[in-house]
Amino acid sequence: MEGALTARDRVGIQDFVLLDETTDAAFLSNLKKRFSRDLIYTYIGTLLVSVNPYKELDIYNKKQMETYMGINFFELPPHIYALADNAYQTMLTEFDNHFILISGESGAGKTEASKKILQYYAVSCPSTTLLNTVRDKMLMSNPVLEAFGNAKTLKNDNSSRFGKYMDIQFDSQGDAVGGHILNYLLEKSRVVHQNHGERNFHIFYQLVEGGEDDLLHQLGLERDAQHYNYLTQGECAIVSSINDRNDWKTVKNALLSSPHGFFHSVQHLFGIVSSVLHLGNIRFESNSKGQAVLANNDELRWLLGVDARSLQEGLTYRKIEARHDQVLSPFTVDHAIYARDALAKAIYGQTFTWLVNRINESMENKDPSRKTVIGLLDIYGFEVFYVNSFEQFCINYCNEKLQQLFIQLTLASEQEEYEAEGIEVIPNHIHTGVSEVVLIVVLMMILQDEECLRPGDATDLTFLERLEDKMGNHPHFVTHKLADKMTRKTLERGDFRLLHYAGEVTYCVVGFLDKNNDLLYRNIKDVSLQMNIFIFFQVATQFKSSLLKLTEILMAKEAWYIRCLKSNESKQPGQFDEALIRHQVKYLGLMEHLRVRRAGFAYRRKFDVFLKRYKPLCPATWPHWRGEPADGVEVLVQHLGYLPNEYKMGRTKIFIRHPRTLYATEDAFEK
Ligand code: ATP
Ligand code: MG
Repeated sequence: MEGALTARDRVGIQDFVLLDETTDAAFLSNLKKRFSRDLIYTYIGTLLVSVNPYKELDIYNKKQMETYMGINFFELPPHIYALADNAYQTMLTEFDNHFILISGESGAGKTEASKKILQYYAVSCPSTTLLNTVRDKMLMSNPVLEAFGNAKTLKNDNSSRFGKYMDIQFDSQGDAVGGHILNYLLEKSRVVHQNHGERNFHIFYQLVEGGEDDLLHQLGLERDAQHYNYLTQGECAIVSSINDRNDWKTVKNALLSSPHGFFHSVQHLFGIVSSVLHLGNIRFESNSKGQAVLANNDELRWLLGVDARSLQEGLTYRKIEARHDQVLSPFTVDHAIYARDALAKAIYGQTFTWLVNRINESMENKDPSRKTVIGLLDIYGFEVFYVNSFEQFCINYCNEKLQQLFIQLTLASEQEEYEAEGIEVIPNHIHTGVSEVVLIVVLMMILQDEECLRPGDATDLTFLERLEDKMGNHPHFVTHKLADKMTRKTLERGDFRLLHYAGEVTYCVVGFLDKNNDLLYRNIKDVSLQMNIFIFFQVATQFKSSLLKLTEILMAKEAWYIRCLKSNESKQPGQFDEALIRHQVKYLGLMEHLRVRRAGFAYRRKFDVFLKRYKPLCPATWPHWRGEPADGVEVLVQHLGYLPNEYKMGRTKIFIRHPRTLYATEDAFEK
């Protein structure tokens, strides 16, 4: 057995719950010590903290997987496999449902973590023929969804631009028998606009770079990303870390090899992807009356299944319903571009939904009799940019909700455990009420929908004004009118600031109503219907209700958490940027979690596990204790001189109030 004191010095503490002091400094120093030794995982109780190493570590091989199968959580060094395995074992023995919430900012390693969990289950679950097909489809859904839903951003070359919740369904033997994916808020604006240094979704470049000559010819595509307006706005179509040609092969194989129904649709799918590119190349010019006309016609014929004339009309005129008549009102060039881009976004968004539906059909559990699930939630973390818009607003709202859920569930499970073990409950001082920001955002969404539906003169600014009227002097909501009174920081007109749990964020209201409405002009909508595309309204409300559903899904399950931290901004291996990490530790609520875990008893272990580890320290328990484990533990701690207020005996576990008691015991090994 490893000398505990030296191990602690050498590799840091494996579980933050056992830190001497719960200060930020102690937390960071432990994390740093471990990171410098490539130990990227550390626990806070059963929560796993992971720091992105930005290099391949040899800890994900089959041998490692086997090492972690069926082990006791705390017996081996912290690992994502230990968490995955423990969730799985608990699900099997208690026959209940679980979810693993993976959070962290862009580039922190969430998607990699969720893939590692899937791979672990693929290897560790018992295997049958049926299982293999479900398993393969689950693994295969990854490259497909990443091609359509991920993109190169400034923060991450493979950034997920949608939130994903995936249920893995198991039968009572522990076989994976089905899967289901829910997706959230695909960032559709990326289809038509990319910031400098960013790309559109991977699939476009994969198709143009990797697509076979025949296919490109059929679709009327050039083998040159530079040729396409929608692919070149970020001016970085080629990225050294990405091999579009190889990725194309992987994605195509995944699509074609899927036995259920993809094959016939694949051609159509690529047709739609290429339609978006053609659409983006339609240009407009102004005629002598200032009306938009198409500058080039040739792209129209490549648009899948659409009548060229009605599209042309839809892109350059707005249909207005007068009493019994329809009047065509011509667009300006700006309007026409807006209509074109709105159509492209709608097409892509619907294609993504279609894809998720097909994947779900293929993974459907054919025998839903007795099953339990493990859900994996890979959702974007809190985002703060220089300018924050509607997308950040929705994402941060989502994080606020999840944080609230997280605190509620953690406190509830602490409480439950104490009660189940017959330990008196310690009053806690952690705020558990509904978050103020969640309430404000819900109100905002209601007002926003009203504004969107108000005919005529509603604008982003009138929306903000109504909000100001309703909110008055709320400490969590500030606009330029109130800024001087509330804080010293000034705000521009059109900005509002929310005080999230993770800190203040200033949002710019410009574009809110539009993005919420997902506006498509009436006759463009008719065109999109020809392509079987439905248009959604009120994005924020829809998102809110899908989040509500998600919260219900999660509340009914036992929670496991993985908090991913980004080690540095420049994607460098081995670099530990302290300021950056301190910031993430704060807004991921890690110290809060630690305090909850330590509010009563820092350490708890099942009697048999505790006895097994420490029995060498007492002649009466070494080498064998023949009685009940609980009695053995009592004899052992008496021998070690534990004082009555330092520990409590529960029904199945011993609870130790402070880590130093345990350290003394650990240190006894040394002597
Ligand atoms: P986003 O929110 O943008 O989707 P993310 O949290 O999902 O970000 P990932 O795509 O999982 O981030 O990780 C970004 C990159 O970091 C990966 O492409 C990989 O290079 C590296 N990385 C993440 N986790 C690990 C790991 N455990 N080992 C080695 N490299 C990793
Ligand atoms: Mg991701």
